[in-house]
Amino acid sequence: MWTLDTDRPVPLWRPEPPDAAVILAFSTRRGGVSEPPFDTLNLGRSSLDRPERVAENRQRFLAATGLAAAPLATAGQVHGRRVSRVRTAGHHDDCDALVTTERRMVLAVSTADCMSLLYAAPGAVAAAHSGWRGTADGMPAAALEAVCEAAGVPARDVTVHLGPCIRGCCYEVGPEVAARFPAEALRAAAGRITLDLPTAARLQLLSSGVTHIHDTGACTACEPAWYFSHRRDHGSCGRHWAIAALTPGEISGRV
Ligand SMILES: [Zn+2]
Repeated sequence: MWTLDTDRPVPLWRPEPPDAAVILAFSTRRGGVSEPPFDTLNLGRSSLDRPERVAENRQRFLAATGLAAAPLATAGQVHGRRVSRVRTAGHHDDCDALVTTERRMVLAVSTADCMSLLYAAPGAVAAAHSGWRGTADGMPAAALEAVCEAAGVPARDVTVHLGPCIRGCCYEVGPEVAARFPAEALRAAAGRITLDLPTAARLQLLSSGVTHIHDTGACTACEPAWYFSHRRDHGSCGRHWAIAALTPGEISGRV
């Protein structure tokens, strides 16, 4: 369902086959103008990178998805589980997920190890940022509930997509974090415990009635050539984007 399209100036993950009703994409670290340690496609304003470079990178990525001129909404990302219903462009503080029924409105969340989730329903899309805290607090299910409410559809009509993030191969956690997750999302070997965020999300979504989940399968910590990793790079790195938009032809949900 997802393919990493490397045959373009700005490589990106795109759905294959594409869904005509929505535009969904995950970025990599390639195709931008930022210098180390933000090289090269850093899309996060919270980093110490130069703002004009981040702006250029954002423009390049949006142009690569055909959304350069579309209104953009971003989230404050405070490791909570609050979802904002977005009707206008801009930065939406105090939330970790965005949902909209507006056509062409681009929802973007930024990550560098944390999980990004995109939701596509008839007439609504959502984008969520979910690290261990957000996932333990139920963000994957909270964003699902918001998109179901916005679109007026049941969970079985929503498709959820999981982006590149740190996974069970790399994400060592302490016992206090592990205690917040079901055993199926944890791996124990050689005295270490690791957490697989996508498995934790999948369990939540399945128990909420979702039947369509697609995962890029990419681990940010495993592949330094392709991804930033907050943990691997000791906090000094850029940010990826996950974006979702309803295409102009899609019916714009309920009024
Ligand atoms: Zn890994």
